[in-house]
Amino acid sequence: MITRRRLAALSACAALAVGLAACGGSDSSTGDSASGAGLKVGIKFDQPGLGLKQGSEYKGLDVDVATYVAGKLGTPADKITWVQAPSAQRESLIETGQVDFIVATYSITDARKEKVSFAGPYLIAGQDLLVRADEAAITGPEALAGKKLCSVKGSTSAQKVKDQNPGVNLQEFATYSECMAALTSRAVDALTTDDTILAGYAAQEQYKGKVKVVGKTFSQERYGIGLKKGNVDLCTKITDAINSMIKDGDWQKAVDANLGPAGYKPGAGNPPTPDACS
Ligand code: GLU
Repeated sequence: MITRRRLAALSACAALAVGLAACGGSDSSTGDSASGAGLKVGIKFDQPGLGLKQGSEYKGLDVDVATYVAGKLGTPADKITWVQAPSAQRESLIETGQVDFIVATYSITDARKEKVSFAGPYLIAGQDLLVRADEAAITGPEALAGKKLCSVKGSTSAQKVKDQNPGVNLQEFATYSECMAALTSRAVDALTTDDTILAGYAAQEQYKGKVKVVGKTFSQERYGIGLKKGNVDLCTKITDAINSMIKDGDWQKAVDANLGPAGYKPGAGNPPTPDACS
């Protein structure tokens, strides 16, 4: 498929001088928008251990998985453009072609599969609660009635609370870091999302001793790599890359390096076996 961008690139080449080396190569590995120009990859910018922007650097398990996958697709790390992908914007970022794929604690769900496709899972996490260190009453999701709970718009975490704990006073923000600020300032009583994300925050210097993860997960979050719906070719290539990352030991290294410092160890079912693409 020739995309508008590639067409534009082709005509720019023609206008310059036919035969320039830079104009010749076309990398068909991702099917369409990801040509030799590089890849646009959606990640979180504010989730320590997973996707974190620090100055001009990007760190975390999702960054490492994305970088590994991009490498297998023929794109070196310095040709990746990192795009912030807040939970509620992920499907539209993919649908509108603003990213080639998303690696952002993005759970595979049937509802999301109506709009996008997924490769993976590459990690299985679980929903949990984070409370202030001195909190004694909130011991699990069943103890949330009448409490102020923070989560993020467009997340499975918020959806689960709405479905299962309608009596809870749920406040939805755009990012989990906003929830962290609300928790420590006592504007909310708890924050709910994946245990991976909560462990990352709890281990941050500024939160140490101030918050604690409750530690009773109540869902299975299968992290996938989101891509354009129906792009089976790209899905298959990304799935192959995930499988080889697990097989060659890089997956374990990335998990240890990124989640280890927060004391997080992936639970049963990890490393997962990716689903077949369809
Ligand atoms: N994994 C869950 C989701 O995809 C929660 C974390 C997030 O919002 O990124 O909705």
